[in-house]
Amino acid sequence: CGIIGYAGHRPAVPVVIEGLRRLEYRGYDSAGVAFVQNRELNTVRAEGKLAALEERLAGCPNTVATTGMGHTRWATHGVPAERNAHPHKSNDGSLAIVHNGIIENYQELKNDLLAKGYVFHSETDTEVLANLIAEGRKHTATTLDAFAWALRQAHGAYAVALTTPEEPDVLYAARLSAPLILGVGTGENFVASDIPAFLPYTRDVVFLEDGELVRLDAHSWKVMRIADLSAVDKPVHHIQWD
Ligand code: GLU
Repeated sequence: CGIIGYAGHRPAVPVVIEGLRRLEYRGYDSAGVAFVQNRELNTVRAEGKLAALEERLAGCPNTVATTGMGHTRWATHGVPAERNAHPHKSNDGSLAIVHNGIIENYQELKNDLLAKGYVFHSETDTEVLANLIAEGRKHTATTLDAFAWALRQAHGAYAVALTTPEEPDVLYAARLSAPLILGVGTGENFVASDIPAFLPYTRDVVFLEDGELVRLDAHSWKVMRIADLSAVDKPVHHIQWD
């Protein structure tokens, strides 16, 4: 139900947890984070409150990753449980995604993937999308292409963010009928379901529209159309917020 992604110069996990806390008002039943460290994709997830996730993270070695993303889940497909909590990885571990919303045709997509040999560890529609992107990656030149390829087949509502060890300092995110906002900082950029998530760091925002996708790292961001990956010129708004 809440998404926050961070690419910058600070340790990402504390920024992400703090961002999730600022999105708690949206409601949730579980939470999780993903980050890439030493070229390895890590996900940590927990059912229940953020405190439960923080407990899990305390058991992990100190993370130095400066890019990461997090999610608070409001279950729609599959009971509240750690296995259904986001982020969800693809079978091959090549990427992880967090997702708000519903992929309406997930069963159809899942059947195709099952026939191709994919296995599922959750009941979520989200894990279907993760594996669909991985499938797309086999036929496309880049993760960006695979992400857009998969999104073109997903019907419903989504805000989704993606991280991959292939590009450890990059995040991708996209939206269709679910909120997603880019926060533009200095040497750091954010993507989130709502502005409060990154408010301590920047008030310069870009409002993403339906059918748009963004690639961000610490120093740059680029908005594209999911349909053909053509660039979209987006204004940056400086917002007032009390
Ligand atoms: N449909 C997804 C799930 O059930 C995402 C729910 C949400 O928006 O948090 O896991």
